Amino acid sequence: MLVQVCVTLLTTALLAASACYTESPPEQRWWAWGNVVICAGLALTNMPSLPVVVDNILGYGVIGFGIALVLRGLRVHFSSTLSWRTVAVITAIALLVPAYYTLVTPSLRARLCFSGFYFAILNWMCAATIARHGRLRVTGISVAGFSVLGVGLLLRGMHMLLHPDPADSASSLVMGLSTLAIPLAQICIAFGLIMMVSWRYSERLRRLSTLDALTGALNRAGLEIQGKRVGLRALRGGRSLAVIMIDVDYFKVINDSHGHPVGDEVLRHLARLLKMELRPHDLMARFGGEEFVLVLDDVNLAAAINVAERLRARIEREMVELDKLSVRYTASMGVVCSDEHGYDLIRLISAGDAAMYEAKRAGRNRVVGA
Ligand code: GH3
Ligand code: MG
Ligand code: MG
Repeated sequence: MLVQVCVTLLTTALLAASACYTESPPEQRWWAWGNVVICAGLALTNMPSLPVVVDNILGYGVIGFGIALVLRGLRVHFSSTLSWRTVAVITAIALLVPAYYTLVTPSLRARLCFSGFYFAILNWMCAATIARHGRLRVTGISVAGFSVLGVGLLLRGMHMLLHPDPADSASSLVMGLSTLAIPLAQICIAFGLIMMVSWRYSERLRRLSTLDALTGALNRAGLEIQGKRVGLRALRGGRSLAVIMIDVDYFKVINDSHGHPVGDEVLRHLARLLKMELRPHDLMARFGGEEFVLVLDDVNLAAAINVAERLRARIEREMVELDKLSVRYTASMGVVCSDEHGYDLIRLISAGDAAMYEAKRAGRNRVVGA
């Protein structure tokens, strides 16, 4: 019991401390508050000196409310929520059933049995909420924690159901196992929840550092990381790797005559169009102001020129619609392939750039293969 109390307090302190950063997401506060409330509830149910209404009834209601807050935090983490009405229903059930078995048909066995089953179900609901969103590599620890906690509580409930005298149950094997499983599960839950949040943060950082904020295309850092991977894969597989450099024609004129926000919209439009036309594993990066790079795996020079020509024609046909304004634009493209220039991405890009400038010199709105 002492170990269990210490673990409960420590895991609660861990969650509360991790929720105290100013930047911490709201779900961490729900988890911290949920655990603080559960601690309060556990304290109430373990104080026989208190009046029976507080000890036997209110304590269970408080624990139910705490688990509901944790569940709410989990829903918030996965971009949904748990309504306050549902929280109230969960709390009311935790409050009313023990009230019935205390005031109407007094039975310690029925009360302990109910609390075991009910809190097991609530913990499994937490596990199911996390498991539904996959990524078990990240969420596995917390799913396991909530599931094992549920099993521990269920064992206690079942033991109460089968055992005639709850008073001497403390020494039984089932109770011993559950007393061991519950603190271990609590540790898994606390670390698992913190791991889920830190994974979110690292994903957000990865996105911020490798994607262009305006267009959602890869930025140069992202291109360097992913381009290397794609290039190496193509080299190992003996496939051709093509690079298409794209530069919007007279983009400065668009900016100067309609303003920078319109120029930005043209860039977003181009990125959307390219994304739509490419295969899912092709790379698209914003290389500079109005320059984009495409990296196509398993495409030779002739095929890449065809792709570029198709893109060029589509861009020429498209119209960027803004309120009271429609803008047309064209692009020049340089196409290169590993068959002629090797697999080094920097070399491919500089050769593609040279080809693209040739297209500019030749009058723009055209494709040149190197
Ligand atoms: P060319 O046909 O020779 O490519 O001419 P250009 O006008 O497209 O090329 P230039 O390099 O002279 O101009 C590029 C312009 O792109 C200049 C710069 O202000 C603008 N630019 C760069 N980044 C952004 C951006 O994020 N948003 C907007 N709106 N404009 C940008
Ligand atoms: Mg340019
Ligand atoms: Mg340009």
